[in-house]
Amino acid sequence: AFEGLTEKISSAFKKLRGQTRLTEADVKDAMREIRLALLEADVNFKVTKDFIKAVTEQATDAEILESLSPAQQVIKIVNDELIKLLGGKGARITIAPNPPTIVMMAGLQGSGKTTNAAKLAGLFKKQQQRRPLLVACDVYRPAAIDQLKVVGRQLDIPVFEMGQGDPVEIAKQGIAHARKNGYDMVFLDTAGRLHIDEALMDELKNIKAEVKPHEILLVVDAMTGQDAVNVAKVFDEALDISGVLMSKMDGDARGGAALSVKAVTGKPIMYIGTGEKLDNIEPFHPDRMASRILGMGDVLTLIEKAQQNFDEKQAIQTAKKMSAGKFTLTDFYDQLQQIKNMGPLEDMLGMIPGVDAKALAGAQVDNKAMGHTEAIILSMTPKERENPSIINYSRKKRIANGCGLKIEEVNKLLKQFDAMQKMTKQLASMQKRAKKRKGGF
Ligand code: GDP
Ligand code: MG
Repeated sequence: AFEGLTEKISSAFKKLRGQTRLTEADVKDAMREIRLALLEADVNFKVTKDFIKAVTEQATDAEILESLSPAQQVIKIVNDELIKLLGGKGARITIAPNPPTIVMMAGLQGSGKTTNAAKLAGLFKKQQQRRPLLVACDVYRPAAIDQLKVVGRQLDIPVFEMGQGDPVEIAKQGIAHARKNGYDMVFLDTAGRLHIDEALMDELKNIKAEVKPHEILLVVDAMTGQDAVNVAKVFDEALDISGVLMSKMDGDARGGAALSVKAVTGKPIMYIGTGEKLDNIEPFHPDRMASRILGMGDVLTLIEKAQQNFDEKQAIQTAKKMSAGKFTLTDFYDQLQQIKNMGPLEDMLGMIPGVDAKALAGAQVDNKAMGHTEAIILSMTPKERENPSIINYSRKKRIANGCGLKIEEVNKLLKQFDAMQKMTKQLASMQKRAKKRKGGF
């Protein structure tokens, strides 16, 4: 998301950075560009207006304009206001003191309730060792129950269902079942309609009144833009939701809904869905998202992803080896396996500061090349993997023959390995800086 916005804001900032002194007119010009960029990104009109007003007021202050680095100060103001707009500190599902924590999912049909109920349950299971239970309260289509069972099975999370009975009764029984069997979280997957209607709202209100969920999470589809924001407003008025799960962020290039929903409804985005796979969910961090929008990357999320997917012991060993300059092709091979687990490479590259997401659009990670790399490493002897400098021409030929590839490919890999060693060193120092930075700048 946010590609266009990031590009335009960066270009406005570039102009500011180009001046040694800033005048009020310079700031106003930049704000005009940012205002257009926000509107083009489909941010709500009033939200945009208020945002620009707040930034302009602060940024045209004489103290800022006459400071040593006025452009940096203006960027910081934009960053801080963006964080505020996105929800400030960030909000999460709170675990209830007496289990089970009951989370009711709500939203229109197709918004992503069923998939994201499962994703969320999976997130809590994996990261907090919770024991979640999914409850099938969408009873109007038998397929809906089956769908929940399928995703539940994929994550090894049990599903409570009573066929096409009364959703309120199913919710109650499901919670009783959780209590009896030691499940500490319950996710209620409810029905949705194509449009907001009274019958839907009444059903949700009834479930709410009967089971008193600790959290009501509204799932809205980011790709529907301002409609998503309007839907959120209506649902919140009827149900007093806890927060929003913004699904399909991966398919939304503009980002307007994500930027408007908090200001319009007063309710925060708690989680975002970032793809169809069941681990494509992230807690929403306003500060990190602001950083991504401003083209400054999101090193913290990148590092977290790495930590989740990397074997920690191995990672520590690898880091040690790297800083000692002892990183070998065997380690490289292991890393390749782990990188494969982290998901599409292009998603991750977008989180690295200074990497132009647009330049990467359409870039495909070449699985075939990855396979070649593995084959080449596998046809080396352990000694060669530990110390590639002993690989002379005849060894290269033998390796190439061994994996049925050309000697040029072996050369290429050895070169890439060298480059990778350099890059990992850079990443390591970036990680250090990110730790120091914490929030703002
Ligand atoms: P429900 O009707 O609200 O229960 O919606 P579903 O959970 O059945 O989701 C509808 C469709 O959206 C399914 O095809 C999901 O795979 C898809 N979907 C859900 N979340 C995401 C997401 O974050 N990204 C993408 N690309 N697709 C999603
Ligand atoms: Mg569903």
